[in-house]
This record gives sequence, structure tokens and C-alpha cells, in this order.
Amino acid sequence: MAEFEEQTISEQLPLLQPLELTDSFLVRESGRARRMSIHVHPHGQVEVVVPKRTRSADVQSFVVNHRDWIEKARRSMGVDNMPSVALFPAEVRFQFVDQAWTVTRVPAKSRIRLRESGGELRLHGAQDDELKMFVSLQNWIKEQGKLHLVPRLEALSKETGLGFRRSQIRLQRSRWGSCSSRGSISLNAAALFVEPALVDYLILHELSHTRHMNHSARFWNLVDSLSPGARNSDRALNRAWRDVPAWLYRR
Ligand SMILES: [Zn+2]
Repeated sequence: MAEFEEQTISEQLPLLQPLELTDSFLVRESGRARRMSIHVHPHGQVEVVVPKRTRSADVQSFVVNHRDWIEKARRSMGVDNMPSVALFPAEVRFQFVDQAWTVTRVPAKSRIRLRESGGELRLHGAQDDELKMFVSLQNWIKEQGKLHLVPRLEALSKETGLGFRRSQIRLQRSRWGSCSSRGSISLNAAALFVEPALVDYLILHELSHTRHMNHSARFWNLVDSLSPGARNSDRALNRAWRDVPAWLYRR
């Protein structure tokens, strides 16, 4: 699975009909890339990283030439039967806090606004602006991440004596969390869709990086002492991408 920081996606190409991949693939220009590369994200989203000023036609033929590889990668993630377009959810269910919200769309002439009340989310706004509705919902998920994940991070930090400097909640497609050498811990809001035991493992994993900035044997010994069976949890967490709804990444 690719691990890199997301940057601006400069261009979005429509799907080439014979490919039958997702509804689209993303193209990301990178100043560091010397040649083109393809990344398949956990939901089967295909991202092509290209050097600056690569021509669209070259990207398309590159993707066509690697069609078999892409299909194989997507099958290995079990996403070949997923719907090609992320649909707007009728319900949002957080495994982490055992909470469910129904989502209702309310036609209005105003700009998109999201209101919460008693287990219900109401998205007011022009219904034809679907992408903005997704973004609004995604921002709300990030807020919920701050509300639920940060207190757990703080509690486990206190419990283990492993301190951190700063916390951040992000929405990423390819990693659950990270820890910088300055002690800044970042958690993926998508962890809300994961069971509590695995979220605890994720947090303890990142906290352990404040001691060891690597995945050495000493690092794993520390994680395992805090969260027994850490390596099994690590594998389970990788599988947990399947519980994360695809609309979270709709752009
Ligand atoms: Zn790690």
C-alpha cells in the first residue's frame, strides 16, 4: 500500500471506457517524481503520480499499459465488486464510539449547511451541488474525529507516560496515523469506523514512535508490552480499511 502525503491533485482524467476501473483515476503531479508510477489505494482508487509537465495522452497510455497490474492489485484488496461511484450515505455509523447518525438531505436555496440534532444529520442546500455535500460531510467527520479520537489519545498518553507535543486529525486514504520526530501525532478520522480495540492499538503504536522513530525490534517490543498481540492487531487494522465507507474520499 502506498504511503505518502497527499498533495494537490492537479488534474482528474475521466475513465477510459475499456478499463472498467473506478469511475475515474486521479493524477498527481510531483516535483520529485522522475517517472510515472501507479498507486492503488485501499478502496481501489487508482492514483497516478507523474513528473511535472507530463502530457495527458502519456498518462492515459501508461495506465492502459498497466491495466492488468491495476486489476490484480484491486482484486487483492477485495474491491473488484465495489460500486464504482461512492453513493451518498443514508446513515453514518461509528464503530469506535458505537454511534449511528441518519443523514437527511434538505433542499434549500442557501449554501450547504450541516445541522446536527439527536442522532440526525441534516444537510441543507442545493441538491445539485453533490460534491459540496460530500465535502461538508467529510469536514464533519474530521470534527467528530477531534471530538472522539483526541481524548482517547490523551488518556492513553497519560496512562502509558508516553507524551506527545501536538495532535492532528486528518482524512487520508492510505495511512491510519503518523508520528513526527517532533512528537506530533496525526490520526486518521477514518479510525472512527474501526472497533475500539484496534483504535487503541493504533494510538499506542503512534505513541511508541515518540520513543522509537522506526519499526525496529525494540519498537515492536514496546508496542507489544502496551498492546499484547500488536502484530496481529496491525494486520487486522490493515483489513479494517474495508469498513471505511468509500464516500469519505469522494472528491
Ligand atoms: Zn509505525
